[in-house]
Amino acid sequence: MPEESKLILSWSMDGKSHTYTITGNRPVTVGRRLECDIVLPDPSVSRQHATILGANGGFQLRNLSQVNPIPIQTAQALDQLAYNQTHALEAGMTFQIGPIEFEVTGIEKIEKPKVEKIKCSNCGKLAALELMECPWCGVSLATGQRVTVDGDGKDT
Ligand SMILES: [Zn+2]
Repeated sequence: MPEESKLILSWSMDGKSHTYTITGNRPVTVGRRLECDIVLPDPSVSRQHATILGANGGFQLRNLSQVNPIPIQTAQALDQLAYNQTHALEAGMTFQIGPIEFEVTGIEKIEKPKVEKIKCSNCGKLAALELMECPWCGVSLATGQRVTVDGDGKDT
């Protein structure tokens, strides 16, 4: 199972500070259009300027603007992200879209709750710890093996 993480982005606009938490489930769009997840109402921002996408436990920034490169400042270097290029996002780096400077304030792993179950030695299904007999085949769970699974109800 791939690791899940979340990315926290912060910026200030009109004297107010903003934060946005991105999980890897769907791409987040940044632009001037009201349909964008992060809306920047500035004429120097493209209607759909950039997208941030979770992949393999990390995050990628992609420039969707054909006319405006995105300056990226990492600890090592200043980079320009051209149209349709992507750049891995790391905590502490900044990038600029129009007049707004975004900072990646953090990338954190999402901990999934774990639950203990007993694996039936006869049918192999997972039963709740407190059961004495397998609810599927009726065999005693005394010889079953304890397993730890993700707490989302899946058997594996
Ligand atoms: Zn069973």
